[in-house]
Amino acid sequence: MFDKILIANRGEIALRVIRAAREMGIATVAVHSTADSDAMHVRMADESVCIGPAPSPQSYLSIPAIISACEITGAQAIHPGYGFLSENSDFVQIVEDHGITFIGPTAEHIRIMGDKITAKDTMKELGVPCVPGSDGGVPDLATAKRIGEEIGYPVIIKATAGGGGRGMKVAQTAAEMESAFMTARAEGKAAFGNDEVYIEKYLTTPRHIEIQVFGDGKGNAVHLGERDCSLQRRHQKVFEEAPGPCITPEERARIGKVCADAVAKINYIGAGTIEFLYENGEFYFIEMNTRLQVEHPVTEAIFGVDLVREQILVAAGEPMSFGQDDLKINGHAIEVRINAEKLPNFSPCPGKITAYHAPGGLGVRMDSALYDGYSIPPYYDSLIGKLIVHGRDRPEALARLNRALGELIVDGVDTTVPLFHALLQEPEIRSGDYNIHWLEHWLAENLSQ
Ligand code: ADP
Repeated sequence: MFDKILIANRGEIALRVIRAAREMGIATVAVHSTADSDAMHVRMADESVCIGPAPSPQSYLSIPAIISACEITGAQAIHPGYGFLSENSDFVQIVEDHGITFIGPTAEHIRIMGDKITAKDTMKELGVPCVPGSDGGVPDLATAKRIGEEIGYPVIIKATAGGGGRGMKVAQTAAEMESAFMTARAEGKAAFGNDEVYIEKYLTTPRHIEIQVFGDGKGNAVHLGERDCSLQRRHQKVFEEAPGPCITPEERARIGKVCADAVAKINYIGAGTIEFLYENGEFYFIEMNTRLQVEHPVTEAIFGVDLVREQILVAAGEPMSFGQDDLKINGHAIEVRINAEKLPNFSPCPGKITAYHAPGGLGVRMDSALYDGYSIPPYYDSLIGKLIVHGRDRPEALARLNRALGELIVDGVDTTVPLFHALLQEPEIRSGDYNIHWLEHWLAENLSQ
């Protein structure tokens, strides 16, 4: 086992990794930008290294700075968290070339899944059901129009290098194809340096269901059921739950096995998430994320496992601590993402926290790097906390969420907490009857943006 690991991230996820490492008796190294000298992850780690100025390209994304920090401190492995360098296959290669262990999948698997066309081809070959669409990239507008006619409108044009909801455009009719195709290409080029796009049938009322998988890199893999992340704003998740309110045990067992078998076959190592759209009882693969997800705690809650601990174990060459038969679902969990944003426009709202009080009690987990007097810097993601609740069933989890949100105090900046108070009053949220478009419609009706 490692003696010391470095965490190439900040905020709540850096704390999350430090906590798991500490329970395993592993020392931790935090890295930080000059804007984060007073951040909680720096205070909580055993050691810390300043790796550059505030803008992330010069600090949290600086590969030479992070490798140097590892060498100076003697850290044997790097946990990337999510975001930043977590899905950068070049980074993983460089880490390995320096004799440091990357706590995550191989560079090769990250590269395959990072290119959405290659990912889809690979999954199709592994027997995973996919959204109908173009076979690979679509080179020009004429081909795009032909494919649109073949699969039928509406369609979605997606940048193969896209992510974070960017590089995707819907064409409702043939007339919209030209502008959607050109915009998706331009966005792919501008944001990811790659203008290749592909086309999929646009599903009109799907839910977003993702399967958590975990492999040991030696041909063994399990699934940890699904998370329903259908409540999205601009293709970004805001509220996640497990198990999915509409998934039956039989469906879970079936799609879970397909996913576990697929990753076992490629000797996948560590945590991964296979994302699907789910409509009329069918699952359609959209992408695989080769890292820990923001919403992993809802899975941890219902299975009673520590996914970061498992990541560290398999990275050190040890076996996973559970097999498929050990994994039994207990109750229901919900996570809400709390952002420092001002409603109704969701504009970022950095600033000084004048008072902070985290909720507690049975079945409540608050993953946050906030503290009284902390100043949220303006340079990074606006996520400031994740509130996770666990109950014996969905109604109990909802009641607990309502109670915990009432206890939470974050003064000094605007947050998205009022959004969740309002959502909890809605019959569709209480019954679980929503799809990926529901929140956008609700926001348009209830918050004039
Ligand atoms: P990203 O990598 O940017 O997150 P994804 O491919 O995971 O992109 O898609 C993000 C979201 O976009 C999905 O959760 C869903 O809301 C929507 N989406 C993607 N593909 C389709 C599709 N074929 N039909 C309808 N909605 C889609």
